[in-house]
Amino acid sequence: MALIEFTDKGLFCRAGNFYIDPWRPVDKAIITHAHSDHARWGSNAYLSHKYTVPLMQLRMGPQAYQGVEWGETIRINDVNVTLFPAGHMIGSSQIRVECKGEVWVISGDYKLEDDGISTAFEPVKCHTFISESTFGLPIYKWKPQQEIFLNIQDWVLRNKDAGKSSIILAYSLGKAQRVLSCLESVSDRILAHGAIYNSQEALKAAGWNLPAVERVSFDTPKEFLKGAVVIAPPSADASPWIRRFGTFSIGVCSGWMQVRGNMRRRNADAGFALSDHADWPGLLEAVKLTGAEKVFVTHGFQAAFSRYLNEIGIEAAEVKTEFGDEDEGPITAPIEEEKLTTDE
Ligand SMILES: [Zn+2]
Ligand SMILES: [Zn+2]
Repeated sequence: MALIEFTDKGLFCRAGNFYIDPWRPVDKAIITHAHSDHARWGSNAYLSHKYTVPLMQLRMGPQAYQGVEWGETIRINDVNVTLFPAGHMIGSSQIRVECKGEVWVISGDYKLEDDGISTAFEPVKCHTFISESTFGLPIYKWKPQQEIFLNIQDWVLRNKDAGKSSIILAYSLGKAQRVLSCLESVSDRILAHGAIYNSQEALKAAGWNLPAVERVSFDTPKEFLKGAVVIAPPSADASPWIRRFGTFSIGVCSGWMQVRGNMRRRNADAGFALSDHADWPGLLEAVKLTGAEKVFVTHGFQAAFSRYLNEIGIEAAEVKTEFGDEDEGPITAPIEEEKLTTDE
């Protein structure tokens, strides 16, 4: 029996009788991070990194949560469980599972670049690695965060000169906090949609030192919105919420913006390819750093990425899970996959 089994409820460790990021209610769930496709409601007990606990509380209310530190080993039956930073968002962790000398690492979502907010990704040696593959195609290759921040700042200043507000669409947990960190130097009026404001407040209450944002409400005077910077979740551009801003320009922050057609599809004025997931070189590097003999590839471009790994001599197989890519905004790129992964 494999140490981790792929079941209809999620990744299951029989020896420890726990699931990792289950998509159905279970008795004991170990959670990689607080995004809604990984931390789901209904289980009896949750174990995660301690930074993930207040974020789960915000989304799922009071439950039986246990928070642990990175590097702290928890023994469950015959199994040692240790969490290591995944660099994806605050609290995001890879789960190392060890039983009788056999080691598996479940990546959850991850990225290799240190964004200054999520604790930096730490490679963990293992026999078997379960990797995400959200951007597992060679066309996905990110610019350094600093360069993207300069582009965003430049765009905000140009909008301000033209008397327009800048509406930045970014996922409320993770991406929004990253983007906010580059805006203080170019604007003294940073506003946020309620969803982002609530995440920001929960993080601040948990002790995070994050920039102040003002919540956009029905009472916010129109004059105040002029030339302001507004952070909103990716779905906001399709809602009446956005009409109050008068003249504005929309910028979308998502890895999908790397593909030009996606910007047109989104009706965005500007696209910034800023992602909380590893790009193609990042995924490859992560796999190599684990030294794994066997890799299971989940959510994303599983077929393309696992085939490539097999070609370079790393045994890999694709596995179907129910994790999504909602944290990158509502664009998926099925068309690109078809077009770009056919044999050359
Ligand atoms: Zn995520
Ligand atoms: Zn995910």
